[in-house]
Amino acid sequence: TTPVLEIKHLDVDYGLGDQAVRAVRDVSLTLHRGEVLGLAGESGSGKSTLAYGLTRLLPPPGVVSGGSVVYHPPGGAEPFDVMALTPAELRRFRWAETSIVFQGAMNSLNPVHKVATQLLDVIKAHEPRLSPAARLDRARELLRLVGISADRLDSYPHQLSGGMRQRVMIGMALALEPQIVIMDEPTTALDVVMQRQILGQLVELRERLGFAVLFITHDLSLLVEFSDRIAIMYGGRIVEEAPAATLYRDSLHPYSEGLLRSFPALRGPRRELSGIPGSPPDLRAMPTGCAFHPRCPKAFDPCHEKIPVLGPPPDRAGPARTVACWLHPAAPTG
Ligand code: ATP
Ligand code: MG
Repeated sequence: TTPVLEIKHLDVDYGLGDQAVRAVRDVSLTLHRGEVLGLAGESGSGKSTLAYGLTRLLPPPGVVSGGSVVYHPPGGAEPFDVMALTPAELRRFRWAETSIVFQGAMNSLNPVHKVATQLLDVIKAHEPRLSPAARLDRARELLRLVGISADRLDSYPHQLSGGMRQRVMIGMALALEPQIVIMDEPTTALDVVMQRQILGQLVELRERLGFAVLFITHDLSLLVEFSDRIAIMYGGRIVEEAPAATLYRDSLHPYSEGLLRSFPALRGPRRELSGIPGSPPDLRAMPTGCAFHPRCPKAFDPCHEKIPVLGPPPDRAGPARTVACWLHPAAPTG
């Protein structure tokens, strides 16, 4: 599989100078063409900051203070660093290559316009040469793709359920024929059944349309079911990354284990639900060593002092995976 997006050593701060708080720390993550990559972590771990940072949509005072995000266009065109694009290039990149459905997106439909108007506007902006009739056909097709009947085009947003509004947003995102769809916790406001339906639908569309998905949620059990790979974030860092089944079967970081125990599994062996005691770190006063050590049931000497490096665990053969934990210290590289 070939990469479509390579995030390399990305740092994101809120504020400048002494006031700066680092919310994303040295994150490296690769999204492959056509894959579903799940990103999980507790509230405040930096998931949204990463998503906004890599698309350069960070609201102030957020700034990307280091690293690069290399995009590989389809058809073998030259890769480029999204962080180095001019504003005009960036606008084109966003429209043409990535679509983002952000947290709370379902509330961003304009309440005074019908679904049709909003969907047609997006299609018109993306494909200005289509005739009005062809645009309408496309709008119908997009709604059908996301499982909404075409007669909903005449509805106003308030006439749709939350799940339907969310699916309209996905339809709008797909109107742009993106290479990458980023969904940031589109489901928090929705019930569990709806969450599964929407992610399931996205995975099915991905198989037909071939885009890659970065799906961000608290709910690890959902990711275990639907994603190809999972990355776990804590205190602004990636602490573990593995194929979904591997992570589920044999998670190595005690934090991943804790997250797995925080949600009921949908299938497979049942775990006792216990959650993770304690609370996420204060970014202004990060613990020394591994940021998770104050909450970790397995912490030992090095954990308090030295930050573990993210790397392949030497005690596990098999599929590509990484972990940042002193229980499985990565072999020094180079
Ligand atoms: P959630 O699951 O609740 O969406 P998240 O993983 O998306 O959480 P972020 O929203 O990325 O987390 O926040 C990461 C950290 O950055 C948090 O500690 C948060 O307090 C901080 N943060 C977010 N936005 C700002 C801001 N505008 N100014 C200062 N700090 C911020
Ligand atoms: Mg968030």
